[in-house]
Amino acid sequence: MTERTIRLEVFRYRPEQDDEPVWQSYDVPCREEWVVLDALNHVKDHLDGTLSYRWSCHMAVCGSCGMRVNGDPMLACKAFLRDLPDRIRVEPLDHFPVERDLIVNQDRFLDSLSAAKIWLIPRKPAPEGEEYRQSPGELAAFRQYSMCINCLLCYSACPQVGLNSGYLGPAALALAHRYNEDSRDGGRLRRNETTASNEGVWECTFVGECSEVCPKHVDPAGAIQQMKLASSIDWLARPFRRKDPPS
Ligand code: SF4
Repeated sequence: MTERTIRLEVFRYRPEQDDEPVWQSYDVPCREEWVVLDALNHVKDHLDGTLSYRWSCHMAVCGSCGMRVNGDPMLACKAFLRDLPDRIRVEPLDHFPVERDLIVNQDRFLDSLSAAKIWLIPRKPAPEGEEYRQSPGELAAFRQYSMCINCLLCYSACPQVGLNSGYLGPAALALAHRYNEDSRDGGRLRRNETTASNEGVWECTFVGECSEVCPKHVDPAGAIQQMKLASSIDWLARPFRRKDPPS
């Protein structure tokens, strides 16, 4: 049963026909329990099949439906209409090139993952015929930072991402911290080559918006401050190491 009609103002950009983005409005009959993603799906299914946006799980797990809702980076599947006014403006995430409508090009983030070496670099091989074992305490040291769903809300919220196109950004650095804190990993010094550079943690001015908008409570701002401390200690210890690790 329809309980309310909202006006959805949607950012449209169709490169084959639009020289620049335009706003398009839709009146959407909606239900109390709907989220912004439901309203977009109603538009797509009943009003305008040309509207383009990403989504998949509808349960804040896949990270696909990140966008700005009335200016704030949110997952469209977590943005309840009951918490929003009758006029809702929907835009693509900030600081990424727009491919089409609400879809952004994510290459910058994917390149940052490679640059920050977001994978396990084993400290030593697992014992013959065995898997690595970790204690609950060792798991707890990095578990929070492994909860990232790559939604990129933190990139949209971060002013430094907008100012420095080379900045690795909050999620890539939080994920680097996740591996640095993993008891199986020995790659922190190799990651430091990028994560401790001017395009890594030292570009962060600790505004903290990345942690405010994160839907999974990863706290990238906290991770980055811990990385600043760890990389400073690594730098001070440099004269006492036998040799730097291979890159
Ligand atoms: S750190 Fe949080 S806001 Fe950033 S990409 Fe991961 S889940 Fe999304």
